[in-house]
Amino acid sequence: MSGKQPVLKHSEIVFMYAADDEAYKAYGTTFVGWGGAHTKEEVQRHHGLGIRCTGSMWCLTAGPELLHKNPELQKGVALDIESKPIMVPWLFDQVYEGMRALWGCTNNPIFRELCRRRVREAMAGGADGLHVDDHAGSAAAAMHGGGFCDYCMAGFREYLKDNASAADLRAAGVKDLDTFDYRTLVRKYAKTRQEYMKVQNRIPLTFSTTRLPPTFGSSAASHRRSPDTRSCCRQMRACHFRTKTMSWTASRTQSAKSRSSRSWARGESQPR
Ligand SMILES: [Zn+2]
Repeated sequence: MSGKQPVLKHSEIVFMYAADDEAYKAYGTTFVGWGGAHTKEEVQRHHGLGIRCTGSMWCLTAGPELLHKNPELQKGVALDIESKPIMVPWLFDQVYEGMRALWGCTNNPIFRELCRRRVREAMAGGADGLHVDDHAGSAAAAMHGGGFCDYCMAGFREYLKDNASAADLRAAGVKDLDTFDYRTLVRKYAKTRQEYMKVQNRIPLTFSTTRLPPTFGSSAASHRRSPDTRSCCRQMRACHFRTKTMSWTASRTQSAKSRSSRSWARGESQPR
């Protein structure tokens, strides 16, 4: 990178959301970090003010309305040990025709395709950057008892192949990783999400939280206002399987980040 100018300078004045011209001028804004420039007109408006701008996409949920209107998306949500979907707790007040804000699974191709579409829409105006909201995706859902769909299980198997020691696998009674289903092991300890939340740190194939990706901490911190999340943050310290899931998901996230958002949005490059 030597010789290149940094994308963001220390002197940058960054707005969280898009604002009106007067607010930008009052603060001397130079960058808008949380979307608001999805169209060509919006991008031109910001550039005309000397401000660089972003599109914004969301990896958290399809949202109640879209989930209701497109039932296919309901097949792309995070699942708990009972194979039930999980509502995003801090979006408890978002309801559309009885549908709640169900957590999307960023390992599920259906939800991944929605994420790609969101990138395409967010960048359609030619914004200078892309804001990725709730980037932890399924890793964050795992903190709430999720991460048990078939796609997450397949990913976890691959993760174990690269990261679990023979002693880890022996202690968990895993004889063949190719046919191993973590849910079967978990159900020996907990058959419901409620039970799972109590005993998760005692289930084999749990690992030290020192491996917790730093990105997760910042993600959890941003939702501290939710009492449910506060409880989850405390549990995080002893949340081993989730740590594994998060590490795995984070590595996929890094992999995805290393590629162009535009090429990913076009489906040219699979981040899995
Ligand atoms: Zn999943």
